[in-house]
Amino acid sequence: MRETEDLDELYRDVVLDHYRSPRNSEPLESPDAEGEAINPFCGDEVRVQLSLVDGLIDGVSITGVGCSISQASASLMGEAVKGKNLPETLAIVKAFRALMQGRSRSDDDAGGEIDLGELMALEGVKRYPVRIKCSLLGWNALEDALKVIAAV
Ligand code: ZN
Repeated sequence: MRETEDLDELYRDVVLDHYRSPRNSEPLESPDAEGEAINPFCGDEVRVQLSLVDGLIDGVSITGVGCSISQASASLMGEAVKGKNLPETLAIVKAFRALMQGRSRSDDDAGGEIDLGELMALEGVKRYPVRIKCSLLGWNALEDALKVIAAV
């Protein structure tokens, strides 16, 4: 896809930094849960591995290929959930989905109390519906992995 100047807002420094230097990109040797998601539109793929210690996400691995939004969002996501417990992680997922859906941060139930930190750099994506799928791809993979954990 050709990127135009209109998309400049999508490519804030933090997004480009995570795209060029993805965090937690080493596969885990013995993950407790894994999830995968693909976006046929861009050919984006994200795989998430998690390991838990005492109910906290101790190890995160984010691997994949695809457009800058999909890969940067997944990298930022990994940093955001590291060290969190399951309810905290689910709250972050909910808050990020609400952000992408353009819901007011003060809406009830939109996770407005959650500090999304660097993930806020992706806020501009919500104006580009096609790219929202890219941005949420890693989060779909994460939710798959969380279902495995919740079921254990
Ligand atoms: Zn994409």
